[in-house]
Amino acid sequence: MQMLESYLEGEWVFGGEPFQTLVDPTTGEAVARCSARGLDRGAALRYARRRGGPALRALTFAQRAEILAGLAAAIHDHRDALIELSRTSGGTTRSDAKFDIDGASGTLQYYAYVGKQLGDDKILFDGEPEGIGRSKRFVGQHVWVPRLGVAIHINAFNFPAWGLAEKAAVALLAGMPVLCKPGTATAALTQRIAQLWVETGVLPEGAFSLLVGSAGDLLDHVGPQDCVAFTGGSQTAARIRGHQAIVAHNVRVNIEADSLNASILGADVEPGSDTFQMFVNQVVRDLSQKAGQKCTCVRRIFIPADRMDEAVAALVERLEGIRVGDPGERGIDVGPLASPAQRSSVSEGLARLEAIGTPLWRGEAPGGGCFVRPGLFRVDGGLEAELVHEHEVFGPVASVLPYQGGAEEVIALVAAGGGGLVASVYSDDPDWAGPVILGLAPWHGRIHWGSRKVHDQSPGPGTVMPNLIHGGPGKAGGGEELGGERGLHFYLQRTALQADRGLLERILS
Ligand code: NAP
Repeated sequence: MQMLESYLEGEWVFGGEPFQTLVDPTTGEAVARCSARGLDRGAALRYARRRGGPALRALTFAQRAEILAGLAAAIHDHRDALIELSRTSGGTTRSDAKFDIDGASGTLQYYAYVGKQLGDDKILFDGEPEGIGRSKRFVGQHVWVPRLGVAIHINAFNFPAWGLAEKAAVALLAGMPVLCKPGTATAALTQRIAQLWVETGVLPEGAFSLLVGSAGDLLDHVGPQDCVAFTGGSQTAARIRGHQAIVAHNVRVNIEADSLNASILGADVEPGSDTFQMFVNQVVRDLSQKAGQKCTCVRRIFIPADRMDEAVAALVERLEGIRVGDPGERGIDVGPLASPAQRSSVSEGLARLEAIGTPLWRGEAPGGGCFVRPGLFRVDGGLEAELVHEHEVFGPVASVLPYQGGAEEVIALVAAGGGGLVASVYSDDPDWAGPVILGLAPWHGRIHWGSRKVHDQSPGPGTVMPNLIHGGPGKAGGGEELGGERGLHFYLQRTALQADRGLLERILS
């Protein structure tokens, strides 16, 4: 059986017993083992700081962009093999695997483009020099400089390719070395991409490390110049945020956590219209894509009470066409969940929803493996149905909630989720949609407005774009990633330089 190695201090290594066994979620068969037990995480971080940091900081943005282009090409050149590995290690359909893997190479290519635009500089400027003295000579200039530590990336299991790439692209372009710790259940794909990256030879020594297996004492070794970017559940997030070394050194932490994303059908939308169809298509896509294991999936669907019957009928008609099964077979839309632990967690969530809601549709699924029957539930009770606003069932599951049609009412219902990554609003009436969108904005990192005019162009709310920010307030973790050049700021220190204008120009030009 394959043993998944870590890449630390420029060497491929693995830890000692006990090993964790990783399974093919379709069959339940063991496919790989890993262990990070006994690996010296502190030495790995010191090596990355000592070797990788200086090497990256010596490069211009354009040169770092070349590295990203090489990493993107490595993924693209092995696309078919990676898609197959995604199926056997993560249970993804071909289309779901492409979403992850092409998303990874696409994000790297996009950041290579950003780096090329930034050109031959090594630091970023924030605004123009501002006069701060009696004469024009004495000025203040804000600059962004790379931090001297390691970008520690702790990822969730659900995007083993994109999760690795979207974080690494930004940190490497900013000039920080990366240590990635992927979600263990699906780490085989991350590890294979890491091997391909190392083989390219484009990464400076120490610029990239991979820790496969438990985080162990990794965070005990963080220092004041390190950054931690975490994606995963809110309980793990709270442990990371409260870790004594993180608190002691005020380490910068970015959290991407749970989100009960909402989809809202406007009262003006007529059944059968383009906007209505867009709503139906995007809800069904979100519920089925990656078996609902996307942080941006819709979990709560708000429908005007007097449109409920038609909207539910349209959703159920589409959902009945969904086939759940072996992701290697043609025509399968939904594969298994990624691991036995996920199957248990989603089964438990389904049972909790069954207790408070009415099933509107339950799909069929094979027994065995990590399959679950997808479900759409109706939940009444509005704000009082607390479970549906608080508990994220991370699988092919969503709830429909009626509302009376008012903007304030729907804003309050959506906000009961406590902050989300994305909300989608479907309406052709700006007088209704305007207050809803602006009312929802403080609760979200992204709002997707579906309307007649864009019904055939939109990739849907579930797709994270590298040029737009990803993250959200409150329950969603309070973090922010990507967003083009904005994403670099997490890995840079903003410093205000106060000096003689001429002298400053000498060192900054
Ligand atoms: P998780 O159990 O919180 O694990 C996330 C990562 O943290 C894994 O790499 C895990 O390692 C690691 N980890 C666990 N305990 C740790 C600790 N004490 N110190 C340091 N690292 C630790 O989450 P998951 O099950 O992988 O992912 C599902 C959750 O992620 C869902 O709730 C979903 O909403 C959220 N998610 C959010 C986003 C977003 O962008 N907002 C995206 C995807 C997923 P092991 O795998 O080795 O346990």
